Amino acid sequence: MGLVFSNALVLTDASAVPVKRDVFIDGGVISALREPGGELWSGSQRIEGNRTLIIPGLINAHYHSHDVLARGLFEDIPLEVWIALAILPPWRKVTKEEVRLRTLIGAAENLRNGTTTVQDMLGCGPGSEDIVEAALAAYAEIGIRCVMSLQVGNRPAIDCLPGIRESMPLEIQPLISGNPPDVEQFLSFVATPLQNAAKSRLHWAIAPGSPQRCTIELMAGLGDLARARRLPYVTHVNESKLQVFLARELYGAYGGSVLDYLEAAGVLNSRLCMAHGIWFSDAEIDRIGSVGAAVATCPASNLKLKNGVAPHGALLRAGAQLTLGCDNVSAGDGQNMFEAMRSLAHLNSGRGPQNSPLDARAVLAIATQGAANVLGIGDLVGSIAVGKRADLTIIDLDDFAYLPLNNAQRQLVYAENGRGVRDVLVDGEFVVRDRKLVKVDQAKLIEGAGALLEIVQRDYADHFARMAPAIPYIAGTARRESDRSLPFSRWIA
Ligand SMILES: [Zn+2]
Repeated sequence: MGLVFSNALVLTDASAVPVKRDVFIDGGVISALREPGGELWSGSQRIEGNRTLIIPGLINAHYHSHDVLARGLFEDIPLEVWIALAILPPWRKVTKEEVRLRTLIGAAENLRNGTTTVQDMLGCGPGSEDIVEAALAAYAEIGIRCVMSLQVGNRPAIDCLPGIRESMPLEIQPLISGNPPDVEQFLSFVATPLQNAAKSRLHWAIAPGSPQRCTIELMAGLGDLARARRLPYVTHVNESKLQVFLARELYGAYGGSVLDYLEAAGVLNSRLCMAHGIWFSDAEIDRIGSVGAAVATCPASNLKLKNGVAPHGALLRAGAQLTLGCDNVSAGDGQNMFEAMRSLAHLNSGRGPQNSPLDARAVLAIATQGAANVLGIGDLVGSIAVGKRADLTIIDLDDFAYLPLNNAQRQLVYAENGRGVRDVLVDGEFVVRDRKLVKVDQAKLIEGAGALLEIVQRDYADHFARMAPAIPYIAGTARRESDRSLPFSRWIA
């Protein structure tokens, strides 16, 4: 049976003027957009849309489900220290139920805030096939659209901190060292689940964790996979200032920029989406633009982890694509794309007296069609058009943010905080209705998270205690590298 939202105000895309329409949905697809007052199809379920605004579902283009249960564990700390503390060691036993719960809780928060697609970079590796399976099952259970990627790396943290082998006592070094499996095992681990990818709400991307955490063989092998499968290639690049100096050291033979390394691996192209992308020089920004690569900016985690603000305007002017994400729950905290949109807009209006390139329309475009294009699903979602999948966020226009409704885009970006999200549909199916999750029982999620709390807190406390001797050396390295001089700055001050 089809659905019809009748008499709703519809914002078909970020640059449109909202218009009253009857929105027909059939087989998960938007089948018609008609002026109100016409005949409704027999057998279809009619839903009153008056006093609602229907917008394309938002896309959280950079997210990790693996540390959802670590919310609230950290104050503002440098990225390198956070990496050492936030990710529990791979040998920690994690049950399928814990993976299910953390995936559901993160997805639920995204859905409740109007996000219909997440790009999950799930930290894992060979031997954790059951974790991947449990996460995929949880996404299917709750009904959110997911561009899944298995975040892998085969170089230990000790090789990503300039000078730390010299400064850190030898007996502590094993805390940040390791002997990862060989490249073939990683490639097979990433390639295997792609075989059965034909699910309507599951899409894939390829995710080397970051260039510095991957050998060139792994970067290139994953690049071949992305090319063969026509998938986005997502990775963390130049998130902290330290990484600029690290690149000079690690990639000196290629030219000294991380972009040289990406080019040598054959992945500096329009398939590439670089999370954060903060500490790029002007020349690097031009180079990113010239190949049409993308940057997934994450304002909240970039500020909290002391990395500054990405050069959004310069990237756009150079021809780069931009997407927006909420990042880890233990770093960016809230999974709320309305907050992320507002931060992105405000950070750019606060740069100086000139007009921001990121007004409300531009920001909303980045969080919808722009992200869909970068993630390779632009033909399916990102706008409201006949033939597209019905991924829709339905906003209650009686919320204070819209009293009165003067300008939909501005009020969505500058005034909405998720409170006005009433219903959410993915593939034409309600996944949130009247502000309640439809496909999973929220009370059971709360109960499940409560049951896990003791185990999670114990494991993090053990991890913090184990890492404690290494932290002063990591923090010292981060501070020393931050203090080095560069011809450009991305700090706020
Ligand atoms: Zn990330």
